[in-house]
Amino acid sequence: MKYLERGYLEKDELPSLPPAERIESKKPVVYIECPQPIPCSPCYESCRFDAIKMDNINDPPEVDYEKCTGCMACLRVCPGLAIFLVHIKDGKGYVTLQYEFLPWLEKGDKVRLYNRKGDHIGEGVITWALKPERNDRTQLVTVEVDKDLIFEVRAVRKG
Ligand code: SF4
Ligand code: SF4
Repeated sequence: MKYLERGYLEKDELPSLPPAERIESKKPVVYIECPQPIPCSPCYESCRFDAIKMDNINDPPEVDYEKCTGCMACLRVCPGLAIFLVHIKDGKGYVTLQYEFLPWLEKGDKVRLYNRKGDHIGEGVITWALKPERNDRTQLVTVEVDKDLIFEVRAVRKG
């Protein structure tokens, strides 16, 4: 588990990618980056499409990409900010992720893009932002990015 010392995941520590035809289909698909055996299961419990497999509460979640509908239920409840939705539509890439900074983001905002390591890797535009409730500490947002970056962009910041 070198990622624990390093603090971020390298490519060879990530789960297999969803098939290209699923990423480019009508709906986005989930991609979960949670390899550590920890007692956590909100993602599994929230999925009513049986798309997340977890035999034991300590098992890392495994996604059945064909069953995933992109409903975002798991993304809303993950305490580890480890779940992303990815999509390619009309040649453009989209990543939906959790955002925990103020001010909250709005559709049309320009954002800086960061990878798992925290390196600045480009600029993007928010295309969807869930309006937070009064006590929310996490917002869901979708950012449009270069389609080749959907498995690289893992955080955004405004400006
Ligand atoms: S996005 Fe919805 S269908 Fe897909 S794994 Fe998450 S909860 Fe299940
Ligand atoms: S809810 Fe998030 S942190 Fe917990 S097991 Fe699922 S992906 Fe991992």
